[in-house]
Amino acid sequence: GLSAESYRRQHEITVSGDNVPAPFTSFESSGFPAEILREAQNAGFSAPTPIQAQSWPIALQSRDIVAIAKTGSGKTLGYLIPGFIHLKRRRNNSQQGPTVLILSPTRELATQIQDEAVKFSRSSRISCTCLYGGAPKPPQLRELDRGADIVVATPGRLNDILEMRRISLRQVSYLVLDEADRMLDMGFEPQIRTIVKEIPAQRQTLMYTATWPKEVRKIAADLLVNPVQVNIGNID
Ligand code: ADP
Ligand code: MG
Repeated sequence: GLSAESYRRQHEITVSGDNVPAPFTSFESSGFPAEILREAQNAGFSAPTPIQAQSWPIALQSRDIVAIAKTGSGKTLGYLIPGFIHLKRRRNNSQQGPTVLILSPTRELATQIQDEAVKFSRSSRISCTCLYGGAPKPPQLRELDRGADIVVATPGRLNDILEMRRISLRQVSYLVLDEADRMLDMGFEPQIRTIVKEIPAQRQTLMYTATWPKEVRKIAADLLVNPVQVNIGNID
């Protein structure tokens, strides 16, 4: 097969960190559970995208990641599939709160993530709830009360529900900050910091961003521990 270096060169992947594992250049080489491979096949995906190929093996080592890649590069499954595998290892009681938390800037994006999570986990008995503003709280709270392994949320709505003490984040051990640059542009930094204070420090944190300005570097430095950085394309 292709060496890690030539695959990275071919797909404009740059990495920084200690002992970065080789990318998964095919689904077959990923070692993912059969039900996940089946969903990838059902979706018509022939190969991992570059961000998936490189971030999957890193995430499976339970390491923190900063991934910088533009829109449409397949970041969602980049963090969802390792999140499913993380959940299988933990087997927490979802009634006591989520194990996986994904923060997303908008209702629309959060809903898309939720849809992809439901689709790819349908044969895995994983429950997933989406919390976003601009919609009444009671239905979201009722769904939450039924138990959710994965919560996908916008920072504003999750913060409201935290203040109402209707969710505990003490069980979260896999945290994703999706579109981190956009969340900061929208002014969500205080809510993000409040939310993260409720999550145990002993966790895996993955940050996905399209750009890498100093505000994003700052929050990455504060919230992630010794992350591996993965860049796709010509981003400084
Ligand atoms: P991003 O979050 O980077 O903007 P998405 O995760 O939304 O990108 O993925 C963009 C599109 O690519 C989605 O329609 C998704 O289903 C599709 N996709 C994801 N992974 C693959 C793959 N390995 N092969 C082909 N298409 C994929
Ligand atoms: Mg995305």
